Amino acid sequence: MKTDILAFGAHPDDVELAAGGTLLKAARAGSATGVITLTRGETGTRGSLEERAAEFDAASRLMGLAHHEMLSLPDGRLAADEESKLAVVREIREHRPTILLLPYWEDRHPDHGAASRIVQEAAFLAGLRKLETGQEPHRPAELVYYMSSWEFEPSFVVDISAHIEEKKRAIQAYGTQVYNPSLATGEEQTFISSEHFWQLLLSRMAHYGRLIGASFAEPFRIRGLVEIADLVGAFGKRVY
Ligand SMILES: [Zn+2]
Repeated sequence: MKTDILAFGAHPDDVELAAGGTLLKAARAGSATGVITLTRGETGTRGSLEERAAEFDAASRLMGLAHHEMLSLPDGRLAADEESKLAVVREIREHRPTILLLPYWEDRHPDHGAASRIVQEAAFLAGLRKLETGQEPHRPAELVYYMSSWEFEPSFVVDISAHIEEKKRAIQAYGTQVYNPSLATGEEQTFISSEHFWQLLLSRMAHYGRLIGASFAEPFRIRGLVEIADLVGAFGKRVY
């Protein structure tokens, strides 16, 4: 199996919030996309395990994913140990992604930083022939880091203006997690379930969209640099 873009998240909803528009855009253009969560989100304040799995399935359908899957690493206690890295090596070798999406290496939630390290190290290990898993080795062409709570200077942004409504619907599939005025769950409020968080999410996408003359964009970072072969082709249609 070959996947064009495979995204890893610590928890269900992490990928959709940060990179849902980019994955939607790729899927609608015919790319094979996938999302794998390292945990099932069992320590989250709101929502049962069954509810969170059903929400993940629903969001994945709305995102047009070719593959989605939850691993069972420990939520709240993620660490870049051998077992966790090997679990991700197996997934990378099975799905053979060209582009790997992963959380930025520092974040407010310690699981996000740990997930970043697990996936980054696994991406390297997955290319080592002598690391035996009974699968062919595979190394992705690029690791692309997405933005969760803590911000960074992006290497590039992706215009998702045409997919903002689809992205909102995919996020709202997580009814127990995000702001949803029509759903009075009576459950404890969290930061992510507040209307303020929803406004911040839209503001961030609008902010990064503004920087490229678009309505909404998602920011990403790579360790190296982006090559531009044609300056006029890249920037000639920009309007400031
Ligand atoms: Zn998370």
